[in-house]
Amino acid sequence: MSVVRIASVYASLLGTYGDGGNVAALVHRALLHDIHVEVIDVTPGLVLPRQADLYVLGGGEDTAQVAAANALRTDGGLTDAANRGAVVFAICAGYQLLGEHFPDATGKPAPGVGILDITTNRLPKRAVGELAAIPNEVNRELGLTQILTGYENHAGATHRGSGVEALATVRAGTGNGDGTEGSVSGRTIGTYLHGPCLARNPELADRLISWVVGRDLPTITEPEVEALRQERLKVVLG
Ligand code: GLN
Repeated sequence: MSVVRIASVYASLLGTYGDGGNVAALVHRALLHDIHVEVIDVTPGLVLPRQADLYVLGGGEDTAQVAAANALRTDGGLTDAANRGAVVFAICAGYQLLGEHFPDATGKPAPGVGILDITTNRLPKRAVGELAAIPNEVNRELGLTQILTGYENHAGATHRGSGVEALATVRAGTGNGDGTEGSVSGRTIGTYLHGPCLARNPELADRLISWVVGRDLPTITEPEVEALRQERLKVVLG
């Protein structure tokens, strides 16, 4: 029986708005599919595991975000992981720091890890509120069919380079700031969706797990989750 190894990266620096719940949601969905998981909690100062299958990063305050980006660049393990095809899933600050640069607390560009060809600067106005977005239906690897729902709280506008696709198209909210939301490149996904994102979007959780195990997973719908999704979508889409 294979085990999906999930690295929860620097949750004490990158875990605002309940983003730690993404790892809990992955564990929950994997167990629903009878897939065994092991969670490796990587606290700041520890070396990133080189053998994990899925690396999860959450959102964070500006200063914590700079500290996390610097530590990750020094460690080098996340870049190696992305290069060898491991899955990387990152929210908000974690998303921004995967790019080339993002604003520090004073607004000056701080260097990111450079895994994604994206750059982030300041939005004219902070984006706070519910976010709903239609998933990229062109990317067949992604293969998402359900509208993505969550909430955002960030000051960053994120610009994608030519090799990076949008994760989704915004229906309500701000996302990247240009009508798109999030980024996907290979098996690296970044998004502004908090919620926690994977608790509110189990199809996305299943996709990340399916990339690791190398097969599609059957659809399992949980009524409580579906009810929450519909309630939240109604708030923003009517
Ligand atoms: N510090 C970043 C910003 O404000 C990310 C915020 C977050 O992770 N919620 O844009």
